[in-house]
Order: sequence, then C-alpha cells, then structure tokens
Amino acid sequence: METSSPKTIVIVGGVAGGASAAARARRLCEHCEIIMFERGEHVSFANCGLPYFVGGEIAEQDSLLVQTPESLKARFNLDVRIKTEVIGIDRAARRIQVRELETGREYEQSYDALILSTGASPLRPPIPGIDHPNHFVVRNIPDVERIMAWSKDCQRCRAVVVGGGYIGLEMAEQLRHRGFDVTVAQGPPQVMTPFDPEMAAWLHAELRANGVALHLNDPVVAFEPPSEQEPARASIVVLKSGQRLPADSVILGLGVKPEIGLATAAGLEIGARGGIRVDEHLQTSDPHIWAVGDAIEVRDGVTGKWALIALAGPANRQGRIAADNILGRPSRYEHTWGTAIVRLFKLTAGCTGANEKSLRRASIPFLAIHLHPGSHAGYYPGAEPIALKILFAPDAGKLLGAQAIGHDGVDKRIDVLATALKAGMTVHDLAELELAYAPPYGSAKDPVNLAGMAAQNVLAGDVALTQWNEVAALDPRTTLLLDVRRPDERARGFIPGSTHIPLDEVRQRLNELPRDREIVAYCQSGQRSYNASRILSQHGFRARNLSGAYRTWQITQPSQNENHPSL
Ligand code: FAD
Repeated sequence: METSSPKTIVIVGGVAGGASAAARARRLCEHCEIIMFERGEHVSFANCGLPYFVGGEIAEQDSLLVQTPESLKARFNLDVRIKTEVIGIDRAARRIQVRELETGREYEQSYDALILSTGASPLRPPIPGIDHPNHFVVRNIPDVERIMAWSKDCQRCRAVVVGGGYIGLEMAEQLRHRGFDVTVAQGPPQVMTPFDPEMAAWLHAELRANGVALHLNDPVVAFEPPSEQEPARASIVVLKSGQRLPADSVILGLGVKPEIGLATAAGLEIGARGGIRVDEHLQTSDPHIWAVGDAIEVRDGVTGKWALIALAGPANRQGRIAADNILGRPSRYEHTWGTAIVRLFKLTAGCTGANEKSLRRASIPFLAIHLHPGSHAGYYPGAEPIALKILFAPDAGKLLGAQAIGHDGVDKRIDVLATALKAGMTVHDLAELELAYAPPYGSAKDPVNLAGMAAQNVLAGDVALTQWNEVAALDPRTTLLLDVRRPDERARGFIPGSTHIPLDEVRQRLNELPRDREIVAYCQSGQRSYNASRILSQHGFRARNLSGAYRTWQITQPSQNENHPSL
C-alpha cells in the first residue's frame, strides 16, 4: 500500500543523496511522479571509487556507474534528466527553472516536494596561477578522465598533491602506485586533520616510507609558470617557506564547500558554517523543500554544534529520510559523527566522533588514552599492532571519540566504536562488550574491550597518565623516566634521560628508585609500564604511565619519523 497520495517529487542532484532519495521515494509511492535533475552526464556514480580508477585498481570506467538513467528508469520508473541544470526556484509558485546544457533550452517544472542534494564543490582558493589545464580536481568522472588523459603518456611524471585530506592522500597513493613522483604539500602541520597529531604522525611515516615527499606546515602561496631552468608540464608550486616544487600535474585536494547557490538565491536559510540549514526532518526553512548530503549543515553527534561533514554514508541515509518525510513517514536525522576510514599504502586509518581539537573548541572536558593492542591473538601468526586512541568524559566515562591506525583490523574496531558512540556508551560499556573471538580474528580481550578497561583504570584512579607531548617538559629534578622494556628493545632506541629496569626486575630493584620524585614508566605499547606503575604505586612510589608509551612518543619525534618506524 502506498504511504500517501501521488505527488510530484523533484530532486536536484543525481548522485549519493539524490539517487538514494529517488529510489526510496519510488519504493514508498508507486504512482508519484519522480524527476531527478543532474547537471553532469552521469548519475549515481561511485565518487568514492574515483581515485582507485586513476590508480588502476578499478580497471573499467563502467564499474564506477552504479546506475544509469536507463537502469533507473527500468527499475524505479524515475524520470532522470542528465546534462540539465536547475537554475532557479520559484518558491511561491513551487516551480523550478531548468536549463538543458547541450541545447540551452530553458523550461519550468512544478513540484509538490523538492529535494536539494547538490553536494559540495572542490575548493579553489584565489592562489595566483591556480587555473591551469594540468591542475586537476577530483569530483566526478570527467575530472578523472582528464587526469587519465594527462597521465597516459607520462613516464615518471611529477605530481604535486596540494592538500592532505582523504581525497588528496588517496590520490597520492594511487599516483604512486602508477610510478609517479608524488609530493604532498599540506598547509597545516599534519595530514588528515580529523586525527590528532600523534596519530597523523603514523600517516606521515607511511607516506615517506612509500616514497611520497611530504611538506607540512607549508601552505602553497603561488603556482608559477615553468621556465627553461625549471621545466615542468604544469607549474612550479611555490610554498610559503620558499620551496619550489616543479609539477607536471597538480591535484587540488583542498577540501570542499557546500553548493548552496540555488538555496541562497531562493532565500532559504543558510547556517553559519555555510551549509543549508535543515531541521531534524531535513526540511529547509521552506516547508516544501528538503535538503540532504554535503550541501547541508548537520549536528555533530558529540559536540552538538552545527558542522559540515561531507561523507557518503550520511548523504545516503539522509536521502532515504527526506523521502520518508515527504511521503508521510515521519523520520528523523539527528547527528553525524564523522566516522571515516582511509587506506594509505599498507596502513588503514579510521576515526569516529570528536578529536582533541574539537573537544577543546567546544569546551568539553576529556581524558585520552593510547594503546597498541594486537589485531588478533598474539600467538596466532600475523598479528599486527593497532595504534588506538580513545577520548572519554572524565566523570562518567562517556565515549567521545576514537582513532585507530594499523595494518589489520582497524575497520572493525572503528565501526564497533562508532556504534558505541551512537548508542551513547561509556568506557565501562566498552569493557563489557561481548565481541566475536577466534584466534585469526581477535583476542579474548578485544582491542575495544582493552580500551574500555584501560580507561576504567584511569577513572578508578588505578593509574595516572603522562601524555606523549608532556615528556619534553618533564624536569629530571622532580621526575624519573623509567624504561621497563627488555634490553634488546632498549638497544633499538629509548627516550633520552630515561633509566632502564626491565619490568620483571622492578620488584627486586625498588631500592634503586627515588621516593622523592615522580616516576613515569614506559614500555613499548603501555601495557607492561601499566603493570610497573601498579607495582610502584603499591610500594608507595608516586608513579605514572606514559600513555601510548615508546611507540606513540617515538612516532612524534621528527628525527625518528624520518626513519620510518613501523607500527
Ligand atoms: P554528490 O554526490 O556530490 O552529488 C551532487 C550532484 O548534484 C552532483 O553530481 C552535481 O553535479 C549535482 N548538482 C549540483 N547542483 C546542481 C544543479 N543546480 N542542477 C543539477 N544538478 C546539480 N565519502 C565517504 O564516506 N567515503 C569515501 O571513501 C569517499 N571518497 C570520496 C572520494 C572522492 C574523490 C570524492 C569526490 C568524494 C568522496 N566521498 C567519500 C564523499 C562522498 O562522495 C560525498 O559525501 C557524497 O557523494 C555526497 O552526496 P551528495 O548527494 O550530497 O553530493
């Protein structure tokens, strides 16, 4: 039975949010007229797959086409009009103005309900020389066709990727796979800003280990024409430091901004972050217009603040929810947590919820712990450490965010933690989660359980933590750094100024340790030094554990980072 009486539903934008809304609308209303307008020549294509087509992992361009206008007509009876731009909205008359891009013909189309899923466009800041035929953005299939055409005859070409967000890094990885000389130039001091700096440091090491040159904290100030002395097929990328990077092509991965031109011209409310303002039913300030996807502002699930979060999952779910609301099924979209994942060569990096920066900005108190549990049982071959960080509230232990980086098992841990965030779980809940275990897949205490338990230890006052960025300021007159690793581990490197007593000797050598100073213990990952700090505090010493231990400290040291330490 249909949910409500037939309507004309018009959708602007035919990819993630738009196509999802259209299909859901049809499933709820067989007799509605559903018209989807798309400016480009493709609908429902896999934007997320574009970098992998450039790198050749996705061999066929057709694989990127999840649906075509014809298949959408056949299966969903959708009226899909490609190469057709919506150029205006007459809200009073409930009509849109439309232009066919090939013929220039303009016409009007009326609607009962209008859904805007116009997406976000790549940022092109006004940097001198930014417009050049060999400077590429990556948003749609024609964009990657241009990159493929450029790269076809390019042997050992030099590509400079400007911007170290996930699109920039995926492109850097894929161009490197194709044998290009790749440089990433990033304005901020780290890539992947949703991660905290000590976590992003693993990505820096992985990029360098794979031959990607990395310039951090050094924004691009100009693209200059090449010269005889500095030949290049595109530009000389000039950094603020004065460094000059000859580039045969430039990939602009500087972020995206919501496409709100139509909404603004129609007088719809726009939020302070620059996205279309919607309510929890995804309705705009006009009761006949809904908006979804990268073009809207969403409520951040942790801070509660308005945010711009451009991700495919939220866009798809919002499309479905908008269609539900239009067709009489009240449905709410409450929050986005920014759960994201990226593969970078052999590493996978995933995050969900808030990071330290966003919590500080929102004045939300938090505690942070780092650990490096194995991806599965250590006795079963192939276990790899996961660098795992969780942030939680200091009172009741509510989970606030998580970041994980490693070679194996990152995706499932981040998805479990994202589920926990959505459920409003605390670290006590994490400790109690019953997760699937057999040796090839996990451990009897899964990394998520261990994170919960380690956080419980902090909340219970069983252990106090020193963070990686506090080590440099430790005063040897008041603090002793104690390395409790094995001698062979210490031989491979240690924190300068630390004293060495392996964990198993600590009880016998307590008399060598000072009672008038605080002792900060560290091992490789933090687990043995937690045991050491428990021994010490129960023998009357003032003891702390270095959160994340040597691994986290080491990766944040610039000299160490250059040596490509591995997880
Ligand atoms: P889009 O999918 O961008 O669709 C908007 C469409 O609206 C566009 O095709 C545009 O042409 C059309 N349009 C705009 N204005 C008009 C108009 N006036 N008239 C007609 N048509 C119009 N997200 C993830 O979660 N994971 C990933 O791995 C991931 N990888 C990505 C990789 C790349 C290279 C890119 C570009 C994006 C990636 N994303 C990823 C983000 C994800 O693709 C977007 O969040 C999602 O597509 C947003 O959906 P949307 O419907 O809001 O916008």
